[in-house]
Amino acid sequence: METTQKCIACGMPMVAARDFAGADDSKDYCKHCAKPDGSMQSYAEKLDAMAVFIAKNEALNLVAARGVAASRMAKLPAWKGSAASPRA
Ligand SMILES: [Zn+2]
Repeated sequence: METTQKCIACGMPMVAARDFAGADDSKDYCKHCAKPDGSMQSYAEKLDAMAVFIAKNEALNLVAARGVAASRMAKLPAWKGSAASPRA
């Protein structure tokens, strides 16, 4: 059984080396979650990026998409226990 590694920050399955940050398969986050310098994006940066992505793909407004992004991120290892999504 092969286990597909998933990005700790967005949950994307990383199959090929090019899916990893900097094409480095020892990293535990994907290229979408890496900044140009190769370090991982912060919670706020990832939340913004995910909200834009979700808004576009699921035809939500940005406010709703941010809520969806926050609840999805709360389930991911990178953000568990972080200041994630205080439900206001
Ligand atoms: Zn990712």
